[in-house]
Amino acid sequence: MTRTPRTLVVAGHGMAGHRLVAHLRAHDRHGTWRAVVLAEEPRPAYDRVALSSYLEGRSAADLTLADHAFLTDPLVDVRTATPVTGIDRRARTVTTADGTTIAYDALVLATGSRPYVPPVPGHDLPGCFVYRTFADLDAIRAAAREKRPGVVVGGGLLGLEAANALRLLGVRTHVVELAPRLMPVQLDDGAARVLARLVGGLGLRVHCGTAVRAVHAGSDGRVAGVTLADGSAVDAGLVVFSAGVRPRDELARPAGLATGERGGFLVDDRCRTGDPHIWAVGECAAVRGRTYGMVAPGHRMAELVADQLLGRPTAPFTDPDTSARLKLLGVDVASFGDAHAETEGAMEYVLRDDTAGTYAKLVLGPDGRVLLGGVLAGDASAYGTLRALVGRELTAPPDRLLAGPVPGGPPSRSRGRAAA
Ligand SMILES: Cc1cc2nc3c(=O)[nH]c(=O)nc-3n(C[C@H](O)[C@H](O)[C@H](O)COP(=O)(O)OP(=O)(O)OC[C@H]3O[C@@H](n4cnc5c(N)ncnc54)[C@H](O)[C@@H]3O)c2cc1C
Repeated sequence: MTRTPRTLVVAGHGMAGHRLVAHLRAHDRHGTWRAVVLAEEPRPAYDRVALSSYLEGRSAADLTLADHAFLTDPLVDVRTATPVTGIDRRARTVTTADGTTIAYDALVLATGSRPYVPPVPGHDLPGCFVYRTFADLDAIRAAAREKRPGVVVGGGLLGLEAANALRLLGVRTHVVELAPRLMPVQLDDGAARVLARLVGGLGLRVHCGTAVRAVHAGSDGRVAGVTLADGSAVDAGLVVFSAGVRPRDELARPAGLATGERGGFLVDDRCRTGDPHIWAVGECAAVRGRTYGMVAPGHRMAELVADQLLGRPTAPFTDPDTSARLKLLGVDVASFGDAHAETEGAMEYVLRDDTAGTYAKLVLGPDGRVLLGGVLAGDASAYGTLRALVGRELTAPPDRLLAGPVPGGPPSRSRGRAAA
């Protein structure tokens, strides 16, 4: 006699929600679970990390994560444009926007984040956008046809990606960053200077150390420009906000689920909420209070929860690698490990070549031998090698390691060494 599968409901079909169900189905050999995936967006999960390539000619179908086998799996039921609007923990049901009630044995919240839009006057005028979904990019593409200048609010990884996308759409683009340098989370001043030169070379106008104070409308009611905190005015026909994200945890409070201090469904190091039937994964999860805005930790959480549902052995979630490399053609910038030398006693080895436009910093342990992290700008070809070495002893002198992906290869540059 075959047992009726238990019902897993997943709220959100994004990158983490998809990984969860794919992993579950790959390992659930006896079909113990049937997954009902409730997606707010009108299409199944796609590769959000590669979203910008949609503006460069890749289609939505190219970016889909849910292939035919997944969508026709009898134990997977994906319902698009069907957001979850409420959770009844006592009845163990969720309600969707169309009024349907679905019972669950396990519920996984995978609702991701929403872009943060600073509440400056005019932030919601026609011509203001965020950069997160196909729908956002379609709207930006349409607005870009007018060829008016654009302003991107936020000079982090994603802001620069959005600025580059505007540039490729033929929009003269300004980037406004509150911090005194671009990519302040990942880079130090030396690397950010190289980055500013490189993005300037692409034609982007960078305004650091200031903020958008207001967005103004023209006589047609659409965006016509912005005023910056330093008093300057920038003519603009569109504004893209890319100033960070906030976890989408709006289902928590009405359901009596705890949230982290800075938002997100509060979960333990196995992604469990206080309710033994409810988990949270991806950007909406605050693991021991901390949220992660990258895909790799979300994938790790997703697999961790799927394994628990299947009774497979699991290890607790530990602090993930938050290394990052900017995805802009011709602008090679990366950071990995303890890039800001926050470890006590850490030492820095810096190699700077202004003539070549490169900067590299390795952060070493107090003994000067163990690699803790680093920053690369202008040439990040050593990124893969170095990232893999974090936490281990250097396999070659720093300048050789910085020379490229082949440890022991000849150094490509050594002029202008600033510090050791
Ligand atoms: C342009 C871009 C580039 C990026 N590049 C990188 C990169 O290079 N490296 C990196 O690590 N990360 C990158 N990221 C971040 C990465 O995409 C996210 O970390 C990842 O998508 C998070 O996955 P998630 O499933 O938690 O959230 P999401 O992928 O956002 O999925 C959440 C889904 O849940 C849906 N949802 C929300 N509420 C509900 C509800 N109540 N009911 C049903 N559905 C709901 C949302 O509509 C969404 O579809 C990038 C993001 C963007 C936008």
